[in-house]
Amino acid sequence: MSTAYDDLMAFTRETEALSQIAGRLGWDQETTMPRGAAAQRGEEMGAMESVLHARRMDPRVGEWLEAAHADGDEATAHLRHIRRAFERASKVPGDLAAELARTTSVAQGVWAEARAKDDFAAFAPTLERVLDLRRQEGAALADGGDPYDALLQDYEPGATAAELDAMFGALRPRLVDLRDRVLGAPEPAVLSGTFDESAQMKLSRQIAKVFGYDMSRGRVDKAVHPFSSGSGNDVRITTRTNPIDPFNCIYSTIHEVGHAAYEQNIDQAYLLTPLGRGVSMGVHESQSRIYENQLGRSRAFTGWLHGQMTEAFGDFGIADPDAFYATVNRVHRGFIRTESDEVQYNLHVLLRFDLERQLIAGSLDVADLEEAWNTRFEADFGYTVDKPSNGVLQDVHWSVGLFGYFATYSLGNVYAGCLFEALRKAVPDLDAQLATGDTSAATGWLRDNLQRHGGLYEPREVIERACGFAPSEAPLLSYLEAKFGAIYGV
Ligand code: ZN
Repeated sequence: MSTAYDDLMAFTRETEALSQIAGRLGWDQETTMPRGAAAQRGEEMGAMESVLHARRMDPRVGEWLEAAHADGDEATAHLRHIRRAFERASKVPGDLAAELARTTSVAQGVWAEARAKDDFAAFAPTLERVLDLRRQEGAALADGGDPYDALLQDYEPGATAAELDAMFGALRPRLVDLRDRVLGAPEPAVLSGTFDESAQMKLSRQIAKVFGYDMSRGRVDKAVHPFSSGSGNDVRITTRTNPIDPFNCIYSTIHEVGHAAYEQNIDQAYLLTPLGRGVSMGVHESQSRIYENQLGRSRAFTGWLHGQMTEAFGDFGIADPDAFYATVNRVHRGFIRTESDEVQYNLHVLLRFDLERQLIAGSLDVADLEEAWNTRFEADFGYTVDKPSNGVLQDVHWSVGLFGYFATYSLGNVYAGCLFEALRKAVPDLDAQLATGDTSAATGWLRDNLQRHGGLYEPREVIERACGFAPSEAPLLSYLEAKFGAIYGV
């Protein structure tokens, strides 16, 4: 005899399978879809979305949830995820959800055009509309609580703006100070010459395997924007190449492998269940960033990478591994978050976090956003934004309504700092292994202590369990100050 719990799980498994298919349509659109198929694909994906939406709102889910009994940690966690998704879908009025979907699908195009023309005023009315709808949605979800906190739950369940604000408030002055000292010191050499793009892709695939990416359950393709897509036994990544900047390809790959390995390493028993995905955006980003930065940009690993690059590209003008390490970790005056270095990256995110909270609270008007952005940028970075495409128009996020998302990038960095401190204690000869291009002890530790759990624990809890201490910004700050203090002699 089947129980409410079994019926609910069977239904949910089918929803998860459909959701994986929808994700794969998205992957296809960015990689191999013929250009002429765009309009048809839009309709196909819209149809898929309405099927998924109807399943999430299905009244039977509410009845099953009421009748279901959870036995044990896994069943309890399953019900927690299903209940959260059901309640979220039920709280937002249908016409508001539809209006949001309509508006954001158009807004992205308006944003792209305004960015190309460097014209914030051309985007402002559209952004106002998106913001207004998301504020309404936040209010509907918050039930009288804080709308921004309610929006955060979509990306980082359990997090609050107050907790993030305390963490980021402690990060900001020390990062500004470190940035100031580092930019005052002589700059390391930059790469010169060109680097064959097929050799870049070949090296990237090799490095992906070095970081434990299982190619029998994944693949690497080229796309305009690097991303990772899918869960379980079909997790694909994309990367990009630039003939004069092989680091873009290599470190985009390592970053996406961090995301993908997390998905691949989740316990197989959780396949196509609510536990079979990374638990939050912040925890996800902790994996991509620790692979990319704490491991991939370490002195030990870059020593090995230097040899691999010499083999792939011949002599490229930097013969000394110490100089190569400094070049990989070069800090420079730049405006774009996604191209930023470890020192300035979080300053980009903190700026967005503070501004978007003011937008959602209604204490900052869209009309004043560009000026607020530029003023804050100059205060934290010490140089001036030259044009909107290098400032307030650079990210797609707000145009598609992603308010509450940026914070998870920095939270991921904070978590990566904590995990790296714990990893170093657990693997005392880590550097000796990385120096030979062997990441297995590090990635194995992350797999066993964090990745395999998928959605079993709440985000903060899975980090705390892996680290053995409560997460804070302190380990990230000590890591950054020690690393860049040494490279720049400041
Ligand atoms: Zn990422």
